[in-house]
Amino acid sequence: MVKIVLDAGHGLSTPGKRTPSGESEWSFNDKVVLAAINKLREYENVDILRVDDPTGKTDISLNDRTNKANAFNADVYIACHHNANTGTWGPWTGIEIYTYDHPQANPKSEEIAKVIHPLVVKAVGIQDRGLKKQNFHVLRETSMPAILIEGGFMDSYIDINVMRDNSKLEAHGEAIAAGLVQYFGLKLKVAVKNYLSIGDTGKEVKQLQENLIKVGFKLDADSNFGPITENAVKAFKTSNGLLVDGLYGPATKAKLENAVKPKPIPKTTPPKGTLYTVQVGVFSDKEHAERLAKELKSIGYSVYIIES
Ligand SMILES: [Zn+2]
Repeated sequence: MVKIVLDAGHGLSTPGKRTPSGESEWSFNDKVVLAAINKLREYENVDILRVDDPTGKTDISLNDRTNKANAFNADVYIACHHNANTGTWGPWTGIEIYTYDHPQANPKSEEIAKVIHPLVVKAVGIQDRGLKKQNFHVLRETSMPAILIEGGFMDSYIDINVMRDNSKLEAHGEAIAAGLVQYFGLKLKVAVKNYLSIGDTGKEVKQLQENLIKVGFKLDADSNFGPITENAVKAFKTSNGLLVDGLYGPATKAKLENAVKPKPIPKTTPPKGTLYTVQVGVFSDKEHAERLAKELKSIGYSVYIIES
């Protein structure tokens, strides 16, 4: 299990921490964190803790944030912020990522920063100010590797454009997630798939193809669910009143298996009235006669063996 802490800096109404137009820093940080969490949820064995108030109403103290992360025994702490320079609009620009400035700082912090840094810079698409070191509370008081990302300047007339673009904030969050996926070697969750569809291969596909052949479709039972198999499945579904989506799911499977089930052979009482005999063979060997009779019965003929 990989335990990941995400921290959207500040709160919605923290004094200062705003653009010159009054937008709150937390509202940008929040969107980055949410996008990172949504992406990370697609991966197995990930436990996520968010240490800011997800509603933004309370500005959780820095001590509370790092205490929660330490109690959670996290593997990594990611703090998401946006920078400010003078508080009035200016031309300053760029992304910086911080790790703890201390000789005994956990070296993994910088390893993680180095993986995430180029991904975030590329995703956000503003200037790269590089990796930096600082003595910030969340970097110092965390007992796990920790990084703090400043995703551009809130008081920059350049960077504000990416903060006002939700797709950029999402890309930023997803880049953080991608870096963590890479660093921790996370694996995508495998969705439980209860149907066959184009691209599938194997024994179950072969069985499906054999059954399609039995009900009259012309295809090869080659174990590969290609366009021909898909068309046959669609045609079968059409003629059986099923939703025609090209997927071979449980309902289609039940119909097809029922269609290929051997039909019970009707009782062979000879019909009354005038009889017309179609003779298909004369055998001196009774066993041969019985074998042919059985085959003919299996495909629906009434068969009588007459001994003479
Ligand atoms: Zn901040």
